[in-house]
Amino acid sequence: MAMDEFAVLSKARAFVRKVNATTPPAPIKAYLEAVNAKVKPDKSMGPDEAGSSFEVNGTHFISVNANDSGERQNFTLCHELAHIILGLPSDHDSSPWWSYAKRSPNEIACDVFAAELLAPYQLFKPIADAAQFGFKAINQLASQFEASLTATGSRFAAVVDAPCAFVLAERGKVRYAVSSIPLRDAKAWIPTGLALPVGSLSEKLRAGAAYTGPEEIAADLWFDNWTRGGELLEDARYFRPWDQILSLIWFDDEEVPPPPRSINLNPAVDPSSGGVPERVLPPTVVSAAARWPAIFTGSNRALLSRLPGLQHRAAPST
Ligand SMILES: [Zn+2]
Repeated sequence: MAMDEFAVLSKARAFVRKVNATTPPAPIKAYLEAVNAKVKPDKSMGPDEAGSSFEVNGTHFISVNANDSGERQNFTLCHELAHIILGLPSDHDSSPWWSYAKRSPNEIACDVFAAELLAPYQLFKPIADAAQFGFKAINQLASQFEASLTATGSRFAAVVDAPCAFVLAERGKVRYAVSSIPLRDAKAWIPTGLALPVGSLSEKLRAGAAYTGPEEIAADLWFDNWTRGGELLEDARYFRPWDQILSLIWFDDEEVPPPPRSINLNPAVDPSSGGVPERVLPPTVVSAAARWPAIFTGSNRALLSRLPGLQHRAAPST
């Protein structure tokens, strides 16, 4: 049976506390020592392989693809550590990281664990909260934590208190989006498969426009069924060789516009709903597998609210 994500995150945080990470980047060496693991860089691995691990007489050997960037190797090491600590068998064959098929629950659990190890919450969140929005800050965080831009951007949107989202699009379509809690609370959804909105910075960069900095865009161009109006700021990076766009969008004043006021002509409509019928929540945005960091999606909202320090609006309980 798949491991409960709350249990996965709790175990990851307990492990980080035990190793006592105090400053970025993540103490990967100390992580490895804590479980008696040794790293074997492997140059013979193909581009579809990231890593694997095995045990001999209590020593764990982690093979990592030496052709990958250092940032990717760091994530792989954390992912393999997850397999070891959680005792979950690898399921790397059934769905390779580049596949659009759903990743197995064990692999998702190990990705969640890995993200927590690579950018420990108590180290990452204060820096992310104090950072300016945009890729300049995401870049700095990425180099501070020795993590990829994608992993860092996803983590940023997952932990900050402000309404923002991080989007990865390929060939002009959204592959996944990670939204912060205020955006999820406001039901601001960016659907998987959405074509990059016409007029968005992301769409313009992909079409060859020169980058001149973040741009304003109407919120309803990005969000599905959005009735609250408002302007977003959008920053983006285009990676032409992979036809991949990373986008960061946020409300500039750090507040989501309130729901529109309705004139209650029909008493059958509950005025507290703003006259807008309740929509069925869309399925989790991780329908498409990414090598990382298919984590912290809308489906984790209940989970996040159960973890101390994650519920931004909760009154202090201690
Ligand atoms: Zn794995």
